[in-house]
Order: sequence, then C-alpha cells, then structure tokens
Amino acid sequence: MNNAPDSRPEDQLVIAVDGPVAAGKGTLGRRLAAHLGFAYLDTGGLYRAVALRMLRDGQALDDVPAMVAQAQAISLADLDDPALREERVGEAASVISPEPALRAALLLYQRNFAAHPPHGAAGAVLDGRDIGTVVCPGAAVKLFVTASAEARAKRRHAELLGRGEDVSLATVQADLANRDARDMERSTSPLAAAADAHLLDTTKMDIEAAVQAARKIVAACTKD
Ligand code: C5P
Repeated sequence: MNNAPDSRPEDQLVIAVDGPVAAGKGTLGRRLAAHLGFAYLDTGGLYRAVALRMLRDGQALDDVPAMVAQAQAISLADLDDPALREERVGEAASVISPEPALRAALLLYQRNFAAHPPHGAAGAVLDGRDIGTVVCPGAAVKLFVTASAEARAKRRHAELLGRGEDVSLATVQADLANRDARDMERSTSPLAAAADAHLLDTTKMDIEAAVQAARKIVAACTKD
C-alpha cells in the first residue's frame, strides 16, 4: 500500500460517510461518488481484508504483529474478494478493529486515498466509522447515516439471504447489537458522529430517497 506521509486530505474535496453497520452507508457512498465522479473507498473493506487474511492464514485474532503485517500487505485487489462480505469476516473485522496498532497502520492508507484519489478524480467519498472524526476531520461534507436497529437487521438479513447465507433474523439482530456495542465502546476511534456531521436517518427511506437526501446535503455544503 502507498502510505505516503505527506498526504493532506484537505487538498481534495472529501465526503465522509459514517454510521453503524447496515445503515446504508455503502450504497449511499457508492452512489454519491458515482454521481459526483469521485473515487470511493469502503474503509470497512480494509478491516475486513485484514480479518480475511488472518482467518485464511489461521492466525489468532489477537495476534497484533500478525495483524499489522497483514494490514501492510493488503492491496486494492484484496478489496475485490467476494468473501469480504461474509458475515464471519465482518464479525472478525469488528473484533480486530479496536486495536490501535491496526488502526494506525490503516490510517495513512485512508488519508492518502483521500488526498490523492485514484484516476485523477476531483474528490473522494470514504465510508466507515471514524472518517469525519479521525481520518478526515477536515472533510468538506460529513454525513452520519443511521437507521433503527430493527430496520438495519432486516436489511442485513435480506442481503445475507440474497447471497445464499442461511441465517436467522434473530442471529443477525444479535450480531448487529454486538458489533454496534464494540464499535461504539472501543477507546480508539469509537463510532460517533462528528460535531459538524449532518445526520441522515434512513429508517423510513428506501435507497433512492436516502441518495436524494444525501445529494441535497452535499449540494448545500459545497455550493460556494
Ligand atoms: O462497514 P463494515 O461492516 O464493512 O466494517 C466492518 C468492521 O470494520 C466494523 O464492524 C468496524 O468494527 C470496523 N471498521 C472500523 N472503522 C472503519 C470502518 C470499519 O472500525 N472506518
């Protein structure tokens, strides 16, 4: 990975999209990026890629040196692996993500992407948990996307069934509650809305309505 130390995210127009698991950040972030012609980075994919490498190599999820070495070895190709979306990988990502050494290893990569979006794009959309608070605190637009726990569990359940994963709604609900708790209670970069983030509650919105609402916020924040 290119961890250029001189990355300055504020040089580019950056849109930070944060929120809890299954709130719709990914689809929203991708759609916003496509609309604006910006590059898109799913930062959860980075944590998932490290977790997947560790699972495949049979490494313990509390082996910090192994975690950091895996983080330093990931490339953009890792982010295309369909196995990243598996529930067990998301769960493992959530277990390793509180580790400060891992977060530090992935921080520069994310900042570098924001400062130098691939293919000469004029800006970048990053989605995650701590983009507006830690990774790109100077982002031009910060969205904090939420939805009720029930709505998020139903969406995630439908998504997993659609991919052929045989899992009950109750299991998905329990997994989400665990991951929310881990993401919000960790001491390093906990999931939290930045003070200047725009809240977008998608509980009663379909994806089209959520994208329209996000586009309005972005337009209002970038109109000068
Ligand atoms: O968003 P996604 O479910 O793919 O993220 C997987 C896990 O990676 C999350 O549960 C969270 O623990 C972690 N993560 C993080 N910081 C980010 C993005 C994801 O800690 N910026």
